[in-house]
Amino acid sequence: MIVMRIYKLFILAVSDYCDMKVTYLCEGKTMTELQNTSNTTETETMVTGEREHQSLIISKSIPGALTNHSDVIPRVVIVGAGFGGLRAARALRKAPVHVSVIDRQNHHLFQPLLYWVATAGLSPADICSPIRSILRKQKNTEVFMEEVTGIDFQEQRVLMGDRSVPYDYLVLATGAHDNYFGHPEWGHYAPALKSIVDATSIRRKILLSFEAAEIETDPEKVKALLTFALVGAGPTGIEMAGAIAELAHKALVSDFRHIDTRMARIILIEAAPRILGAFPESLAQKTKQKLVSMGVEVRTGTPVEEVDEHGVVIAGERINASTIIWSAGVSASSAGKWLDADVDRAGRVKVASDLSVPGHPNVFVIGDTASIMQEGKALPGVAQVAMQGGHYVASVIIGRVEGKATNKPFFYRDKGNLATVGRSFAIVDIGNIRLTGFFAWLIWLAVHIYFLVGFRNRLVAIFQWAWTYFTFDRGARLITFENDRDP
Ligand SMILES: Cc1cc2nc3c(=O)[nH]c(=O)nc-3n(C[C@H](O)[C@H](O)[C@H](O)COP(=O)(O)OP(=O)(O)OC[C@H]3O[C@@H](n4cnc5c(N)ncnc54)[C@H](O)[C@@H]3O)c2cc1C
Repeated sequence: MIVMRIYKLFILAVSDYCDMKVTYLCEGKTMTELQNTSNTTETETMVTGEREHQSLIISKSIPGALTNHSDVIPRVVIVGAGFGGLRAARALRKAPVHVSVIDRQNHHLFQPLLYWVATAGLSPADICSPIRSILRKQKNTEVFMEEVTGIDFQEQRVLMGDRSVPYDYLVLATGAHDNYFGHPEWGHYAPALKSIVDATSIRRKILLSFEAAEIETDPEKVKALLTFALVGAGPTGIEMAGAIAELAHKALVSDFRHIDTRMARIILIEAAPRILGAFPESLAQKTKQKLVSMGVEVRTGTPVEEVDEHGVVIAGERINASTIIWSAGVSASSAGKWLDADVDRAGRVKVASDLSVPGHPNVFVIGDTASIMQEGKALPGVAQVAMQGGHYVASVIIGRVEGKATNKPFFYRDKGNLATVGRSFAIVDIGNIRLTGFFAWLIWLAVHIYFLVGFRNRLVAIFQWAWTYFTFDRGARLITFENDRDP
């Protein structure tokens, strides 16, 4: 059964790869079809950089916005090129639509491996891919690096400061950001892991703590410098805790002369009665045992009461820790405010069964920004929900454009949950299958490599994992500063 699932995964990976190749080969034809069905001058404008530049200067509109493509080819604007937005864009690659993808970053980020960058296992470029390069062969698609600031429903335009772009269909896939539950000031001392910048600054913080401890003479200060507190024991918290434990207790041991990095204290703090609330209790229990065996202190049922520059207070106890990492919760992006829509407690837009915003049938919200109810429960903020949502919305748009619209509602197929601790232990919860240990870790590895965007990234990740597996070494132990220091 399990072997069959892995085999299916492998076949899926191969077919996805072949599919991409076929798409690339077919693109010329698809574009020709588009050109045949539209005014040639307008199609040229869509792809000609020079004209685009002119329109940018003249109108403060985003290129292409000057000519009204919607007369000929419907324009789909996708905001956010994360898991959901990118999947929607790719699913529209052969559709007779003009796609504009807008993201404030120039790269797509594989968030599930951020903790590897934060703990010096991978470099930032290994888990990111430039959005332009991912979509470069998709000729009906353009990419803009811009921060979206609002939506004008009347004019059907997406606003980016003083620029704007028109849409016929709009897909908002702007993700989520960290949530400090009414204590935004805690963010200053306890950074969260959401972006590449977060990951490199957490990496800097962790590595600098060891450096500072090496030259510190006060034993109490050394203790605080070597204490790492992680708030929130969901998948990100446990993965970070395991990775820091391996870094301190294995990778760095022979690098320092004045401190014993094995003395590092890693504390995982959770307000709920147990870790990994989204996983079955038996798997959470096994994970806890694994963490404890790696030297992680697991504190459950202990909400954080205070976070400051010296550490945290939990259940009345002060813990001095120079590094605090927040992985306790997220809230949705600002899309709900742009839309003035009905939102849930986490700020996620309550969408209709076709993922459109009630009252705006051509505006869709997907992924972490959407509150999607299924069988009486809100779907979790995970990559699969975002990707399936992106794929579904693309099919709805294609159906409408081609006059074959159906009323089939979005239905999320849960393909299971995975989480890992350290270099060779994972938990797998797929349907009735529950696995722990090395075999589960191989599945975790295969899935993450499969979903990592870019052949180079997959190759580098496989090599890095193999290297770390056999040596415990963490090659990306760079401390980088935002500004160069004085010579
Ligand atoms: C550390 C970490 C680990 C995770 N691990 C897992 C895991 O193991 N498995 C799993 O399934 N899920 C995991 N997740 C959750 C998963 O990454 C998210 O559910 C998923 O990324 C949501 O996809 P999305 O498309 O909604 O948003 P995102 O992937 O977050 O993409 C949002 C995009 O919108 C862009 N954007 C935001 N605001 C604007 C704006 N105003 N203008 C322009 N662009 C904007 C952002 O730059 C970003 O590119 C993890 C998340 C984190 C942070």
